[in-house]
Amino acid sequence: MSWSSVIGQHRVKELLRRALHEEKIAHAYLFWGMEGIGKDALALALAKTLNCERRTLPSTEPCNQCRSCMQADKLEHPNIKLVFSLPATKSAETRDDSPLFKLTDAQIEEIQEQLRIKAENPYHNVSIANARQIRIASIRDIKRSISMSQSQSGHRVVIVSEADEMTVEAANAFLKTLEEPNPNVTLILTTSRREAIPQTIMSRCQQIYCDPLPDSELTVALHQRFSITEEEARLIASFAQGSYSRAMQFLDEDMKRLREEVITLLRAALRRVRYRLETFHIMERFSGTQDRKQLSTMLGLLVLWLRDVYVYARTADASLIINSDQIDTIIKFATAFPHADYPAAINAAEEAVGLVQRNIHPPLILISLLLVCRNVFLGVND
Ligand SMILES: [Zn+2]
Repeated sequence: MSWSSVIGQHRVKELLRRALHEEKIAHAYLFWGMEGIGKDALALALAKTLNCERRTLPSTEPCNQCRSCMQADKLEHPNIKLVFSLPATKSAETRDDSPLFKLTDAQIEEIQEQLRIKAENPYHNVSIANARQIRIASIRDIKRSISMSQSQSGHRVVIVSEADEMTVEAANAFLKTLEEPNPNVTLILTTSRREAIPQTIMSRCQQIYCDPLPDSELTVALHQRFSITEEEARLIASFAQGSYSRAMQFLDEDMKRLREEVITLLRAALRRVRYRLETFHIMERFSGTQDRKQLSTMLGLLVLWLRDVYVYARTADASLIINSDQIDTIIKFATAFPHADYPAAINAAEEAVGLVQRNIHPPLILISLLLVCRNVFLGVND
């Protein structure tokens, strides 16, 4: 993980590189901002740079070749510790237990697999079954390794990922660590829920806000890193609301097919006569067989598509269309319904997305949405 593989975050990178350049790395940082924007990636890039064996000032770039850089890339560096929620163990912990001590072999394997994925992709959110808390054993483990590091060379970096998952006990223990600064140790907390971090901890950290990623930067990153076209990347980016990890969730979906299906449904529902049967068939197909996540993606795609039609109907500027492979269809639709109340249709589709998440029966959601669309576009009430 080097600076160049962190997407966007130019302001934060600049700030950290200046600190590296001036050798003014803080004792503790809190990187906060929404999920999936690269907070851990930034922390790992900083940790790697601090430990590179060949870096000489004024460079703020790791060499990517020394033993230390290699170990950092594999998340196997003795000076770089990543802390995250671990599964609860059945028996009570004693003071000196390692946080891994009572886990089963299968759990240890799962953790190793998650770390392997994280090393390849620092945007991956480490997720282990039944692990929702960072407990005191993990914090004691940090303390132990810090005291050991007095004798080790290099700069020890502890990254507490999703630090809001610390239990009250763990947070209290962590506070003590924060209160005893060590010049060769940097603690980095990352969180997307800053409000859940105790004030006492926050006040001892340099807080760095990380911005959501602009669509343009997400598009470039998705296009370069995965084998998808720029159009597809743009479509996914517009969906990800600034989060790279959210964008990755959409990569598995065939977005174009999903969009095709939902537009076909809309068209069927907007026939003036005998629309019911066909609409019903399509609806049955996609409310019966697909899971809720897919249904909400589809409805989200409909929102995006309707927005494009609306923007075009108002501006006649095709360059503003996000679904750029659909320009002809969108222009046709906008021309067919120049005076429709698009915001009402878009609102209804957005509300439908919310209803899917609230477990309302999918066919009901779709029927009421399609009735709104018939009203908006055809002016009919059935
Ligand atoms: Zn190096």
